[in-house]
Parts: sequence; structure tokens; C-alpha cells
Amino acid sequence: MTEPLLKVEGLKKYFPIRKGLLSRVSGHVKAVDDVSFYVNKGETLGIVGESGCGKSTTGRMLMRLLEPSEGKVVFDGKELTSISSDDMRKARREIQMVFQDPYASLNPRHTIEKILEEPLIVHGIGDAKTRKKKVHDFLEIVGLSSYHAKRYPHQFSGGQRQRIGIARALMTNPKLIIADEPVSALDVSIQAQVLNLMQDLQKELNLTYIFIAHDLGVVRHISDRVGVMYLGKMVEIAESELLYDKPLHPYTQALLSAVPVPDPNFVREQILIKGDIPSPSNPPSGCTFHTRCPFKMDVCTKIVPKLEEVEPGHSVACHLYGEHAQQ
Ligand code: SF4
Repeated sequence: MTEPLLKVEGLKKYFPIRKGLLSRVSGHVKAVDDVSFYVNKGETLGIVGESGCGKSTTGRMLMRLLEPSEGKVVFDGKELTSISSDDMRKARREIQMVFQDPYASLNPRHTIEKILEEPLIVHGIGDAKTRKKKVHDFLEIVGLSSYHAKRYPHQFSGGQRQRIGIARALMTNPKLIIADEPVSALDVSIQAQVLNLMQDLQKELNLTYIFIAHDLGVVRHISDRVGVMYLGKMVEIAESELLYDKPLHPYTQALLSAVPVPDPNFVREQILIKGDIPSPSNPPSGCTFHTRCPFKMDVCTKIVPKLEEVEPGHSVACHLYGEHAQQ
């Protein structure tokens, strides 16, 4: 079997909480707590969860825009977590990010041409003439035109700005794109256009995606596999069809029950999760979902469930499927 393009093992990000005059560390916010997964070449892994579940922090740690507290990130056979910041800067040529708010991530004082040329200059790719040609080529590839090159970000609609954000991510011919809520700020009709564009680009340019979203409905059609995060942990990860047809974790079941189905004859029982998401600075003991879970058992408050494969291509972290299932 070929090695995955990206392998993440035991990734953690703990932010210290400082108190008092001497700023002593009085605890930690466990934003990401022991997350492991892999992404194969050419596939899309969706990562889904409510805000504050650690999905964006995970995405940023993969590029070391945030330094992990612990864990390993291996990309294309190279361990990114142990290389120097200089080597990491070079490695970023092959891993790029698309952000949720394209307006905030595009410099308002620069023309689109300058914005798109910048990653090429940073990585020392091409001369002025070839760079300019590449900028114009990529504007066309993402569905804009060469004449847009001299305009400024504020002259574009939200959907067009996200196309520019995607073009910028593609300029260095990356292998992996981490898209952090790339369509969340867009109207539903525009969302579909941007998702279709991303799918077309994936096929044409042989890209691998990590697609982060808070809504299971959005990632459904673009993802080959989907991971669900809750309070810093991966609670279920499965091939898309398995996850949508047969969600196993009570949290995934609740999230899915809220996704509208475009079939008037299909009635899905809505599962409401009680209470709010607990604070990651003081997560519940055992299974962190036990404070909201309708199937909570005694063991759930005491033992942390491990993410285990329960059928080929389907892993879940829940005592309902382990040795405590009898309870
Ligand atoms: Fe619910 Fe227990 Fe499963 Fe956690 S381990 S999701 S509390 S049944």
C-alpha cells in the first residue's frame, strides 16, 4: 500500500492560561488533544465540528502557522514538526491554505496581480515575465479574466474574492491545500460554484484537500472521507458514504440530524444535543461528550474512549462500540 501524503500522529495544542502578577501558568486550554489521521494523495478529507472544536487549530498546526505542543506531522515522507523554520518556509510551497474570509486575507492596497505574484517571489519561482504569465493563467483557471489583474480586492464580490484566494494558494503548485471554511462566508448559490471549482481543480491539478467546515452538509459532496471533531478530539472518522449512511458516534448522529435532506418523503428524526459545549480549559472527564450525550453510561464519565476501527474504513471513539457495549 502506498504511504499517505500526510500523516498526523498524537497532535496536541495546549494554550497556557496565565494568572496573577507573575503570569504563572494556572492551567491549559486543550484546543487539540491527541488527534491522529492521514490523508491519501488525491483525496479530500473533510474535518467537521462546532466552533471551538479545534479543527482550525489543527489545520494551522499542519503548516506550523501554530507550533504543536506535541505530536508528529509527516508530509510526503518528511517530518514537518522537527525541521527548522527555514526548511518549513520552503515546505510551505507544497502546502497552501485557503481561508474563510478572503477579504481579510487579501491585502486591500495591492492589486490582484501583486497579490498573486507574491508567493512566487517569496519562493523564488520564475522571473518577472513568467510570473506575470502565471498570474494571468491562474486567473483564467479559477474563472476570472486577465483584465481583473489590475483591480483591487474591494472591487470583487465575495465569491470572486474566494476565487482569488484559491488562485493565490495554487500559484506555487502545491500538493496539499488546507481549506479552512472556504465557503462559510458565501451565499448558498455561490458556495456551490466555489465547491464545484475546487472539485474541478482537484481533478485537473491532482490536488489533495483537507476541507474544514462546521457543517456536515457542506463537506458531503467534496469529501472522500470525513472526520468529526468534538472538544479537541477526533470522535469519528470514516469514508463519506459510511459516515452519512451509518453515523456511529452520538455527536455525529446529532450533527447529521440537523442537515436538511432534499427529499420531501424522507423524514429524519432530529436529535437535539442538550447543553453547551464545555470549556476546553476544563473538559469533562472520560468521554468529553458525556455531559451532552443521550446514551451516557457509567464508564463514559471515567474512561476516555479510544478512536478504534469498528469496520473497514470506519473508526469511532465511543464506549457504545467497545468492550463496554453490553452496558
Ligand atoms: Fe456517549 Fe459514552 Fe459514547 Fe461518549 S462514550 S459518546 S458519553 S455513549
